[in-house]
Amino acid sequence: MIRIDSVTKRYPDGTVAVDRLSLEIPDRSITVLVGPSGCGKTTTLRLINRMVEPTEGTVLLDGEDVRRRPVTTLRRSMGYVIQNAGLFQHRTVIDNIATVPRMLGWGRRRARERAAELMERVGLDNSLAKRYPYQLSGGQQQRVGVARALAADPPVLLMDEPFSAVDPVVRKGLQEELLRLQDELGKTIVFVTHDIDEAIILGTMVAVLREGGRLAQYAPPAELLADPADAFVEDFLGTDRGIRRLSFFPSAGLELTTDAVVRAGAGAERVAAADAPHLLVTDAEGRPLGWAARDEPGAADLGTDRLLPYGRSFVPGVDSLRVALDCAVLSPTGWAVAVDTGGRVTGVVSQQTIAEAIRAAHARGRADRAGVAP
Ligand code: ADP
Repeated sequence: MIRIDSVTKRYPDGTVAVDRLSLEIPDRSITVLVGPSGCGKTTTLRLINRMVEPTEGTVLLDGEDVRRRPVTTLRRSMGYVIQNAGLFQHRTVIDNIATVPRMLGWGRRRARERAAELMERVGLDNSLAKRYPYQLSGGQQQRVGVARALAADPPVLLMDEPFSAVDPVVRKGLQEELLRLQDELGKTIVFVTHDIDEAIILGTMVAVLREGGRLAQYAPPAELLADPADAFVEDFLGTDRGIRRLSFFPSAGLELTTDAVVRAGAGAERVAAADAPHLLVTDAEGRPLGWAARDEPGAADLGTDRLLPYGRSFVPGVDSLRVALDCAVLSPTGWAVAVDTGGRVTGVVSQQTIAEAIRAAHARGRADRAGVAP
């Protein structure tokens, strides 16, 4: 575990970049440092690998002051990834990735084999191995940066705004890739960003810093959204806090209705028995086709062109309440369509039922935080 213990960093010109900061960074998870520009995120990250030394306080790695470890040994145990990847422009992709293993004295062949394996790990095609960084897209360069940092298999990965210079679509891909990679590798990752959404997506724990290098709040993302410590954190979290929080509530417990689901050609009797104003019509395999009004004659036999579109569907147990609510809001009937992973309808659920589930989830959340049964 990395422990930052009451650390202050005052630069020679008197700037206090970090002010009595204490953080316990858990092993094998992603801890995000987030906050506005100039609040001391980069300084904090560099205190961990001793690129910056504290003015006061200590940084401990597995209980030992990092100052007691030789800098070279310390840095080899910590991969470092920065914005724009910081690649060596005159070296090929494969040689960039093999840099640290080569420094550690690995043979050329073994280092290259390791680099090729890492290219695959981070989703880079092997055909890119001989290219130079300028021949890659921003997203590809960033992947090379991550592969290079992982080359010697360090237990710790320090990442400073690694995805800030790429466009939103590529960025989302890189975030998903990092989460997938982390599932496989289980590194201790400290990740700096100024983007609160990125912090919420990636962080197991999120430290919100404010100007002057002071800690505003340190909590799991769901707790930040539920319970911002003060007006600064609330403001920094931005709008839609309530809706975004629904991402952390599972849709698994939603009560689904199957009464209102009919197969195309089911017949008038089956339609009359349904207990909802709209019926979801499915094809013979159970895949959704669209909505029909129940009192419309021959509702189950309407052609797809006369059905109301069902919008999008959600998979209970996989998707969150946020997705379920989005489906209901998008649906012209106000009901959301639940499907299994094969796309077959398992039931429908009204906005009202989703709203009740949200209230129940809030009550459970409050009880959990208070440490009592709901
Ligand atoms: P962030 O990463 O949150 O943008 P930094 O850690 O880079 O913040 O900087 C925190 C504060 O320390 C800023 O006011 C910055 O100008 C100042 N700072 C950073 N590096 C130095 C330095 N080498 N000398 C003096 N001031 C610095």
